[in-house]
Formats: sequence, C-alpha cells, structure tokens
Amino acid sequence: MNIIPFNKPYLTGKEIHYITQALESRKISGDGWFTNECHKLLMNKYGFKKVLMTTSCTDALEMSAILSNIKTGDEVIMPSFTFVSTANAFALRGAKIIFADSSEENPNIDIKEIEKLITKNTKAIVPVHYAGIACEMDSIIELAKSNNICVIEDAAQAINSFYKDKPLGSIGDLGTLSFHETKNIICGEGGLLMINKNELIERAEIIREKGTDRSKFFRGEVDKYNWKDIGSSYLPSELNSAFLYGQLNEIDRIQNKRLEIWDTYYDELSSQEEKYNIKLPKIPSYATNNAHMFYIVCGNIEHRNRIITELKNNSINSVFHYQSLHKSPYFKDKYYGKKLTNADMYSDCLIRLPLYYELNESDLARVIENLKIIFKNLL
Ligand SMILES: *Cc1c(COP(=O)(O)O)cnc(C)c1O
Repeated sequence: MNIIPFNKPYLTGKEIHYITQALESRKISGDGWFTNECHKLLMNKYGFKKVLMTTSCTDALEMSAILSNIKTGDEVIMPSFTFVSTANAFALRGAKIIFADSSEENPNIDIKEIEKLITKNTKAIVPVHYAGIACEMDSIIELAKSNNICVIEDAAQAINSFYKDKPLGSIGDLGTLSFHETKNIICGEGGLLMINKNELIERAEIIREKGTDRSKFFRGEVDKYNWKDIGSSYLPSELNSAFLYGQLNEIDRIQNKRLEIWDTYYDELSSQEEKYNIKLPKIPSYATNNAHMFYIVCGNIEHRNRIITELKNNSINSVFHYQSLHKSPYFKDKYYGKKLTNADMYSDCLIRLPLYYELNESDLARVIENLKIIFKNLL
C-alpha cells in the first residue's frame, strides 16, 4: 500500500523555466524582474494597495511589528492557538503578548474576548485567519478604531480568500502571507507584506532594505542611498520570486483542485458528524474557503490520537496542529491570564487530513473509507 503523505508540495513545471531565465539574466539578488512581476500580478488580481515580497511570512510579521512602532511594554493581542511567528515577531520588539481564546465555532480569535483584553497599553491586534477562513473583521476594525489600535492580519494561510469580497490581508493596516512549501502557493520559503495605508509604504521599503532608501535610489528618485531607519534584509532573491511566478500564474487551477478535494471530504464526512461527535469546519457567511486545510475536531484527545495512529497503521499521515502558545515552554511562566478553554481544545482535538494538489481520487477515497471504519470501531 502506498503511503499517503500529509502534504506534498506541488510543482507546476514552470518554476525551473523561470529560474533558468533569472539565472541567464545574471540578476539574482532581490527586486529584479520576477519580484516586480509577482508584485504586479498580486496587486492586479486582488487590488492590494501595495505589496512587498519578503523572505517569509515570519519576516513580514517582523516588518509589521517595526512599522507599527511596537516598543517594550506595549501590549499586542492575538490568539494563543497560532504559529509561533505570530507572537515572536512582536516579542522581538519587547511587546507584552496578550493571548486570547479561540472562538467556539472555529479556531479564529474570539471577538468577545478581545474587548476585555484591551488596556491603555494595547498597541495592536493580530487576527490570524486560521485555515484561510476569515475572522470577523468588521468587529475587529471597529474595536481597533475606537481604541486607536493598529490591526495586522496574519493571513499566512489565506491567499485567495475573502471577507465580504475583500481579500484577506487587505483589511487591517498591514497583512502578511506565506509561500512556505506547506501553503497553497509556494516558493520553498517566502512571504508577502501587504501595506494598506499610504503613510506606511515608504517606511516599509526602507525597513525591508536594511534601513536604507535603496529602493528609491534604484527608481532614480535619490542620487545616493543612506541609512534612514532600523531595518534588516527582508527581500527574497530573484530565484525565489522566479519560482513563485511559476506558481502564481497557475493559482486558479491550483485553487480549483484543492477546493474539489475539500468539498469531497466535506460531502463524504458530514454524515458522520453527529453520530461520532466530530465537527467539520464551518465557513461563516462572511467568509470564503480557500481550501488551505481540511480539519476535523474530535470529542477528546484520546479519540484524536487514536484516529491519527489508526490512519498511520493504514499508511495515511494525518497531523494535529498548534499547541497553545500561552502554555509553551517559553511563555508559560509569563502567562497570568485566564484559562483558554477553546485554544486548548483545538490543541488537543484537531486533526488535519492530507490535502495537496496531487492527492488523486483513489487515495482520497482511501482516506475517507479508512476514516469511516475508524470512526465506527473507535468512537
Ligand atoms: C505558516 C505560518 C506562518 C509562518 O510563515 P513562514 O512563511 O513559514 O514564515 C505564520 N503564521 C501562520 C498562521 C502560519 O500558518
């Protein structure tokens, strides 16, 4: 029996062609033709005000923390059920991370909790669009506006996904995307910063170019470039952008295929929900689905672990996801807040099923068939 992996990075076949083109042009550092074309393609397709390719979503988050002037002691509110980079980017600037619980409906931040956590020291809210499914952004933006707080969307998983017709990442002051090989559209390691406020654009370019105005210099707007601000090297090489360009040109085909797989999982498993006390993802009416992930929430940790083990015994790799950050070895002694029941529940009970472009019909059917047998025997 062949092993069905959890993920298999998809290659369109065009990546190598564009990488070769980049090599032949002898321009392989950042901000060449391919990086510029990726910027144009993303801005045209989604109507983003301004985007900048970065070396990772982690780096785009770090840039966001600098851009929003986070200083020692400033409080930043985010879900505990998220990737470590969401928190680390702000911890690096000395912020006090304020973890909020997830909602009951899905792993996104519980809007009702945010208001209770806002103090005079709150500087930013970082909603994470888990599985590419939008947080309820109108409420978040309203809270932020009335308290003079900035909003940074961690849209790492959310390419091609929308909140009320607005692409995720375009709604807060800043947004970040990931092109890591585990995401829908990839280039190995890579990311994107979406800058949605005019007044942040110039500084974003400077921070990304080692704190210099080199971008202006290359456009011929200044006659030499200088150290203007703090910053780092956040721009990817042309090789990464050339790879990404091959992917971005195929985004609709990739998305359609992923959605087809997601819908099959949903249609086949929804009849099992009540009988076996499992929950499938629900897409709120304000959100779209970009089929980044298909997950199941089990009734308890024992069931979850047994399902993973049983699938593994049948050569199918499924995986759990984040462990609440407020309980992490780095943070647990710093956390004095209340119990985050839903975040812990998702840490204990969520399983992600194989979902990748090349998951063929028979393998998909095998995952579903095995799951149904496991449900019947175990739950
Ligand atoms: C993948 C991911 C990141 C990090 O992305 P990188 O490009 O690997 O740095 C950050 N936040 C979330 C929610 C993610 O899923």
